[in-house]
Amino acid sequence: MAVSVLFRHPSSLEHDTGAHPENARRIVAIERALEERDWLGWEVRLSPAATREQIERVHPARHIDRIEALCRRGGGMIDLDTLVSPGSFEAALHAAGGAVAVVDALLGDGDGAGVRCAASLHRPPGHHAEPAQAMGFCLFGNVAIGAAHAIAAHGARRVLIFDWDVHHGNGTDRIFRERDDVLFCSIHQSPLYPGTGPASDAGRGAGEGFTVNLPVPGGSGDAVFLSHVEHVVRPLAREFAPDLVLLSAGYDAHAEDPLAGCRVTDAGFAGMTALMRATADELAVPLGLVLEGGYDLAALSRSVVATLELLGADEAPPVPEVALDPLAAEAQERLAAYWPALA
Ligand SMILES: [Zn+2]
Repeated sequence: MAVSVLFRHPSSLEHDTGAHPENARRIVAIERALEERDWLGWEVRLSPAATREQIERVHPARHIDRIEALCRRGGGMIDLDTLVSPGSFEAALHAAGGAVAVVDALLGDGDGAGVRCAASLHRPPGHHAEPAQAMGFCLFGNVAIGAAHAIAAHGARRVLIFDWDVHHGNGTDRIFRERDDVLFCSIHQSPLYPGTGPASDAGRGAGEGFTVNLPVPGGSGDAVFLSHVEHVVRPLAREFAPDLVLLSAGYDAHAEDPLAGCRVTDAGFAGMTALMRATADELAVPLGLVLEGGYDLAALSRSVVATLELLGADEAPPVPEVALDPLAAEAQERLAAYWPALA
């Protein structure tokens, strides 16, 4: 029986943001819900701290130094949304280290044998962190650090990152926008913070076509999200043929989330999970999950449980039938210039 591995670390609770939607109660709620279900049979491990070398693959040293220094001085505001406390640096090191550990568990030889799936459940989240700028509750680009680690340390040739957080993953986008070895697909509400990620932005230079932005209007629900996964992300994945799939999994597109206006349900997250698991299974490549946002504690913890339950199941979950939504059809047409599979 293949094992599924979950990485966590108590330092996630020491990133003290006060009265902020991105607070320690998120991790407490998720872990409580998982504990009630006996962690769904997943093996729970403590994440290591990411090393400087691992983080410096995507951030300049001065970015790490600045955050470390601010935390040592007692913390403070980085911008109106993003603040740190004395414990934040350690938390951020383990949040990045969790993503690295997911990759090591999935791609490492020996230890990785028989690992079906791995997940990193930490805070702070990461997908808004730009190379030299912490922002949007994010300090280090956790999922980007994981993808860069897969390539640099494990020889992965191509990594697919699918970001279903309701906000555009501007940091991940920026880090890989000129590269063709990481395909970054983001479905996000637009207009919404941070205002980046228009459909027209496809990456730059050698990376043109390898940034896939799928903006959707506020009010979008399961049908729109599932249609983009089934009819855009899955065919792209087949054509790109990654060695690893990473989910940049935020749960703030949930109908009950207070920070955005999408209408995805628990069943919608389960459906996207089943589709992405089927994609990884078809390609015979491993799949890892890195937690991003999600600010309604009940919706967040229920949806994380639903996701992990499907990812870890021994038998592949049934794949939902998904109609082609007009917005997904538009995206297919636009992207067919780069990806013939979408024509
Ligand atoms: Zn978000």
